[in-house]
Amino acid sequence: MDSGQRLLRGLKAQEAQEEAQEELKKLDENQKLLIRLGRKHYLGEQTREGWTGYASFYLFWCPECESYYVDYRHGHRPYITCHRCMIHYSLEPWWTPLVELRDSLRLVIKTRFGRL
Ligand SMILES: [Zn+2]
Repeated sequence: MDSGQRLLRGLKAQEAQEEAQEELKKLDENQKLLIRLGRKHYLGEQTREGWTGYASFYLFWCPECESYYVDYRHGHRPYITCHRCMIHYSLEPWWTPLVELRDSLRLVIKTRFGRL
């Protein structure tokens, strides 16, 4: 990745982070906790400048960056991406609970024993 690409990725991540902060203002503490434990919070069908259609948007927590982000569903094995560390999080219903379990265990471990 060259420095231009890295800069673009940083900007995208910052935008996704700012959007998440706006969305978080509408949520209560319980909802925020569930998202931190791995729930992908559905924000509805939205469109963006320059798009021809709509996509499903989600608010989620990236345990790697320890930050909230907003992204839309990609691909036909649906996933959302953290634009900072580029990790993909699956939206597939059958394995979402496994991701939630893994992330909540990680959060517990991290809280108890510090950073992994
Ligand atoms: Zn991340």
